[in-house]
Amino acid sequence: MARRKVIAGNWKMNMTPSQAKAFIEELYPCVKGKHGCDIVVCVPAINIPAVVKATAGTCIKVGAQNVHFAKSGAFTGEISADMLVDAGVKYVVIGHSERRQYFAETDETVNARTKAALDAGLKAIICVGELLSEREQGITEEVVAKQTKLALLDVTEEQMKNVIIAYEPVWAIGTGKTATAEQADEVCGFIRSVIAKKYGKAIANATAIQYGGSMNAKNAAELLAMPNIDGGLIGGASLKAPDFTVIVEAAQ
Ligand code: PEP
Repeated sequence: MARRKVIAGNWKMNMTPSQAKAFIEELYPCVKGKHGCDIVVCVPAINIPAVVKATAGTCIKVGAQNVHFAKSGAFTGEISADMLVDAGVKYVVIGHSERRQYFAETDETVNARTKAALDAGLKAIICVGELLSEREQGITEEVVAKQTKLALLDVTEEQMKNVIIAYEPVWAIGTGKTATAEQADEVCGFIRSVIAKKYGKAIANATAIQYGGSMNAKNAAELLAMPNIDGGLIGGASLKAPDFTVIVEAAQ
């Protein structure tokens, strides 16, 4: 079955609110009318109001880069799913490898954040991916299967409609090293089989599985042409409107 591709920019800790507004003003005329994929920008939390305002009435949806798992309470510095929804956010990236590496994110907290996001009606972009050492040991499938299964613990069939998995080999993120289209497709296909075992083929076939890791204007078309790659989570190249536009065009 045809799945809709999702092209999501992960701005990481880049752009001030005024730069973000200017960036959307540059990007929107370039991607206007390109309705063949979902277009998302996942922005730093402080940019959310400016970007929600700048994208109002456009085809660009707004995402956050993290969400706390509690409804509310004594969690200084954190942001809840309800706060994101109320601010106009539709998507949230969960379990990015930078959060796993630098902010002690674990499979358990990824699962808790996923459930909080889904319960609030957000679309969860759940990141999984192996380290270079794990690929070299030949345990890529074991690693991504474990991450995927633990992230989806207690996620219902109904909630799977709002789940996107981003396969991001850690060795390819921000390094300029891209997985080959075949390598990326193989692992995305494997993740689909993991989902099929738990939820059945229909749900697995309907779930968007993105590739992320140095996707850019040059390699996007080849990656996005693969049968199991349903879009991209894009860091560096999402910060340049012309490059991000080429990737959106490749997904049409
Ligand atoms: C990312 O941040 O998820 C990412 C894939 O970054 P880059 O495209 O820069 O490798």
